[in-house]
Amino acid sequence: MHFLRCLALVVLASCLPLPAQNRTVAITVDDLPYAGRTDRALTTADTAFAEEVNRNLLRAFRNHKVPVTGFVNGKRIDALGQKIGSQILRHWLVQGLDLGNHTYSHPDINNLTVAQIEDEIVLGETAIVPLMKEAGRKPQFFRFPMNHTGDTKEKHDAIASFLARHGYKLATCTIDNSDYLFDDAYLRMLEHGDRVGARKLRIEYLEYTSSEIDYYASLNKRVLGYEPPQVMLLHANRLNAAVIGELLKMFETKKYTFISLSSAESDKAYSIPDTFITPYGPMWGYRWAKEMNVHVDGKLEPEPPQWVFDYIGRTNKRGSLHFTVP
Ligand SMILES: [Zn+2]
Repeated sequence: MHFLRCLALVVLASCLPLPAQNRTVAITVDDLPYAGRTDRALTTADTAFAEEVNRNLLRAFRNHKVPVTGFVNGKRIDALGQKIGSQILRHWLVQGLDLGNHTYSHPDINNLTVAQIEDEIVLGETAIVPLMKEAGRKPQFFRFPMNHTGDTKEKHDAIASFLARHGYKLATCTIDNSDYLFDDAYLRMLEHGDRVGARKLRIEYLEYTSSEIDYYASLNKRVLGYEPPQVMLLHANRLNAAVIGELLKMFETKKYTFISLSSAESDKAYSIPDTFITPYGPMWGYRWAKEMNVHVDGKLEPEPPQWVFDYIGRTNKRGSLHFTVP
């Protein structure tokens, strides 16, 4: 009887349509080996945090089988010390994860000339190329700091062709959850021993992340007519290290499966040209809207809670407020 019931269930299951699980996301982590605080330079005093953050992130990526791409700043390796910095990155490579170039010192390229930007890209290779070579690989992706892809057409086009000549693909991203703002508040809370505040912040950060995942899924769908693979932008910081398991579970609950950045970018959406000349760093949904001439109002994007801005003494100057297109 039991056998027959099982057989019936198997037959029934094979006739039912597959569950809707065609959403995909590539997870990317910027400012490796460790982002540190935005208001002070990274030093060897941050080493223990850097190691802990990477241990937590890598454990969660293993547990959830996530093929992540991490973006490295050579200057951050130098600040932590070559030995420790390189060791952290080797752990990424040993786990089969990918590393990309994120410039040497994370400058705002709006303030640099084309020649200076090219120097930053080349200098950004000195730390990762030998490490990747040890693993029989080479960096394929470059991501601009703050996704500033060129504030003038000349700069935009010159760097795009420089990257292509050097064999780089541009790392895009479609979901931004302003994790650096929340982390800024989080680090201050940890420093003051404010455990209640830190807990509230972790909860609200995850709620905000959830609303941004949904916002960008619907923005992309409105612009393209379907949901392309998403690319999530995160930073190597203590807040993400604390909640990464929950954050990955959130994607799973929303029926996303994890794919690599290269598979995400093999979708046709990513061959749409990007000619959005702006001093800001819009997510690709806004850039696609510009190319496809679809009207979107950036002011509809959810904002992080005002108390987080107040806590860190910043005014809300987020780029999304400027991303109304066309
Ligand atoms: Zn960055």
